[in-house]
Amino acid sequence: MQHDTLRGWLGHLRKTGRIAHIEREVALTHQLAAIAKKLDGHQAAYFSHPKGHDMPVVSGFMSRRSWIAEALDVPESSLLETFRRASERPRACALVSTPSCQEIQIKKQIDLGRILPIPVHSEHDNGAYITAGLVIARNPKTGIQNVSINRLQVQSNDRLGILMLPRHLWAFYKEAESRGEALSIAIVIGVDPLTMLASQAILPIDVDELTVASALHKEPLRVARCITNDIEVPADAEIVIEGKILPQIRALEGPFGEFPKYYSSQEQREVIQVDAITHRTNPIFHTIIPAEMEHLLLGAIPREATILSLLQKSFPGVMDVRLSTGGVCRYHLYVKFKKRREGEPKNVIMGAFAAHYDIKHVVVVDEDVNIHDPTEVEWAVATRFQADRDLVVIHGAQGSLLDPSTTVNAAAIGQTEVPQEQQGISSKVGFDATKPVSYTAHVFTRVKIPGLDEIDLKDYVSSSSVGLDTHLKN
Ligand code: MN
Repeated sequence: MQHDTLRGWLGHLRKTGRIAHIEREVALTHQLAAIAKKLDGHQAAYFSHPKGHDMPVVSGFMSRRSWIAEALDVPESSLLETFRRASERPRACALVSTPSCQEIQIKKQIDLGRILPIPVHSEHDNGAYITAGLVIARNPKTGIQNVSINRLQVQSNDRLGILMLPRHLWAFYKEAESRGEALSIAIVIGVDPLTMLASQAILPIDVDELTVASALHKEPLRVARCITNDIEVPADAEIVIEGKILPQIRALEGPFGEFPKYYSSQEQREVIQVDAITHRTNPIFHTIIPAEMEHLLLGAIPREATILSLLQKSFPGVMDVRLSTGGVCRYHLYVKFKKRREGEPKNVIMGAFAAHYDIKHVVVVDEDVNIHDPTEVEWAVATRFQADRDLVVIHGAQGSLLDPSTTVNAAAIGQTEVPQEQQGISSKVGFDATKPVSYTAHVFTRVKIPGLDEIDLKDYVSSSSVGLDTHLKN
């Protein structure tokens, strides 16, 4: 059964023992994040009593690949294919007029910190951050919506700082600002896992990520118009913050602990003016613990689906891809490839670099290597790779702005304040860890014990150890 509402999914997790219910009062500063982190990948955390609030907080409800596949009601092996199909065939949403996300409407005396239980996550974070807010805006040129998750720092009762990487939301804002206008937005907190995942789809600028969410759901996604602007938001969301990104206004934002498990810098960044907050009766606040599995997988699955699709268009031998956890589900790509001719893996490596600028290290392995097991990939590198002929190095490409090692390049040019256009310069490295297409018998034959796969230990291992005990006594 597909779970296409947040409350339906949480109910399913509860029934199957996958929610840790924290009844005790928990401090919003650090304590809540620390408890959720301890549970990461094992159980979702549901906090009934965040200190000073009646509103519960949930975290980590999509912290395993198998859970996400379960929410979609597909086998884990079909996860990428399912997501890719929805990305390629989006579906219109269904507009409704009396949405549950607007049951309670607050337009006056807005005080973010009093109304919402917004945690402080990591040691050096500059205050409380909304980390699971889907930011929705319309392209000022075309009117088509975009969805992204941006970190949002509480700066006052009714203002939030925002980090926008140079992508779609940023382009909309730049267009609005050049006209001297604010960009209307909605920040949606507390949606189902399918909508969370769709928000991270890698799409052309004028494809609304909500239409991908709609395609992932059994029925078209229900959306509703905001009460103070014309943005359409998921109607069954728990909480919606309505507002606008102000033109010409900047304020200090950061530092904040990000997905690479490092802090990103404090800089002058854009500011959101909050106009209204609407929510369901008895809403649930969602927070993502930075760099934990929920955060990493949200990035990994949509990226893998897009990268696999792009690579397969040029290289039919590409069978599967995996963004490894150690590579923060962004920087390290493993590719399973059916090689037919020498040299092909290097073409695949170059294709992977072109598929997404975050990809820094690529390892191409043969079809007999399990790319979902990092030890197997390391074994392939150890035994099928020679640096003098199998290594691809590209200097000075654009990489991830949040990879701290890219700032070493900045220091190398003797600048502490690096202009924006010079940030994120990164080397790219590819490893062709495939064996030769043809080789002398047994040189590259993987050791195998005949019959291994057919052994069921239950048929052989006794519950008692009479034989051993008898020997040990003598
Ligand atoms: Mn987009």
